[in-house]
Amino acid sequence: MSGNLKSWTSLRSDKMDLRIVNARVVSPENGELIRVNVYVEGGRIKAVEPSEAPLREAFQEIDAGGDVLFPGFIDPHVHFDDPGFTEREDFETGTRSAAAGGVTTVIDMPCTSIPPVTTGESFENKLNIVEPKAYIDFALWGGVTPQQVESGEYEQTLENLKQKGIVGVKFYTVSGMDLYPGMTVSCMDKAFRKLKELNLVCAVHAEDFHLVDYYSNLMQENGRYDPESWCEGRTYEAEPAAIWSLVGITEKVKNKLHIVHLSTKAGLSIIRCEKAKGLDVSAETCPHYLLFNSEDFKKMGAILKIAPPLRMEEDRLGLWEGLKDGSLDFIATDHAAGVYPGEKNHPNIWKNYAGIPGVQTAVPSMLTFGYHTGLLSFLDIQNLMSRNAAVRYGLYPRKGTLAVGADADFALVDPDREWALDPGKLETKGKYSPLAGEKFKGKVMKTLVRGEVVYEDGKGIIGQKGYGKFIKCDL
Ligand SMILES: [Zn+2]
Repeated sequence: MSGNLKSWTSLRSDKMDLRIVNARVVSPENGELIRVNVYVEGGRIKAVEPSEAPLREAFQEIDAGGDVLFPGFIDPHVHFDDPGFTEREDFETGTRSAAAGGVTTVIDMPCTSIPPVTTGESFENKLNIVEPKAYIDFALWGGVTPQQVESGEYEQTLENLKQKGIVGVKFYTVSGMDLYPGMTVSCMDKAFRKLKELNLVCAVHAEDFHLVDYYSNLMQENGRYDPESWCEGRTYEAEPAAIWSLVGITEKVKNKLHIVHLSTKAGLSIIRCEKAKGLDVSAETCPHYLLFNSEDFKKMGAILKIAPPLRMEEDRLGLWEGLKDGSLDFIATDHAAGVYPGEKNHPNIWKNYAGIPGVQTAVPSMLTFGYHTGLLSFLDIQNLMSRNAAVRYGLYPRKGTLAVGADADFALVDPDREWALDPGKLETKGKYSPLAGEKFKGKVMKTLVRGEVVYEDGKGIIGQKGYGKFIKCDL
């Protein structure tokens, strides 16, 4: 009896849960496409073998038909608004949208929840609400407010949040949110010191408060309600000015700094220069800054309203260079859905919601306008949209790689499939996109999370609600 059991056990372990045959993967060394078979067991990658190697047995098979198998994409900057602003988005619709876009892990922001994630209790509250709704895996950002710093309680709240497994802390130099106000220099200096002690990344929305406050009010006092007034109010120099202050504090404190949704070439120059000096600063930009400029905003209006605003063509082109030369570390979407059309159709630009839901369109956008234009290679896309964020935020090598032992998270992509975007069919609650009607080349055919297919082209979402897991930062 025991002998039988033993042989059954070894047989069982020889046969894999899943094999993906005929896939092409991008070599992390040289970017070449290699034809492989990938084996999955227990939700993890068990083996990656050349396609000529003898096939191993598996209970299930996916024939990739030569499509490109990327490690699951990671969107490190999303606002899924849960709990608190679920008329805009919730964790169910947000993670469904991610799955349909080839994204297998999102990192959700702390500020667009009620209450914001600024204490261990609010973290637990959010986790209990969102985890049962998740279709894909997720990590969480923590937060801190100026009130917490001024009262001194921030030292304890940040320690608690670190223990819970946040990837880092996000705050604003200028904020439009009553529950999550912007930070002063003295608060930032103190928070940076604590975050350095905790070895946590500090991500900052960088626009100078005084510049944005004065010029935004001036525009409205002068009766300016056109899209251009949004750009002029959130004046260009506000971003480099804030980044300059932040890197100055970081030079003194030596903390890990991250600049979110970079929009200007001037801001990029500072980051490039500070990186060369060895400062621990990283930065991201978003598809909308790579694909649109302020002229597009003038024509399209509220649908492209975002903060910071879209900038000039030379900024847009500069950001592509930043992706190529390593000054920018990754592409994030800043996915933020407004109620559509209600929050996106006011004739006064100042009264519209600032946000674009991008988690589902980011990968096809970068294939179409990055890869097929020759601006990015597959390896660039793999690094900028998966590996680099995993490394920066302590999710690597569990996420962000096809190495043996990693979670079996995959996006299977047909890089040449052509299709057109109908925003009405997006999984997000915000069924709008500045890319509406756009022709794409490159499509996500399947998304797998820990070895389970959660999305399939033609079938839609086939994963289970609540399957997605919270992934703790390992820094
Ligand atoms: Zn954001």
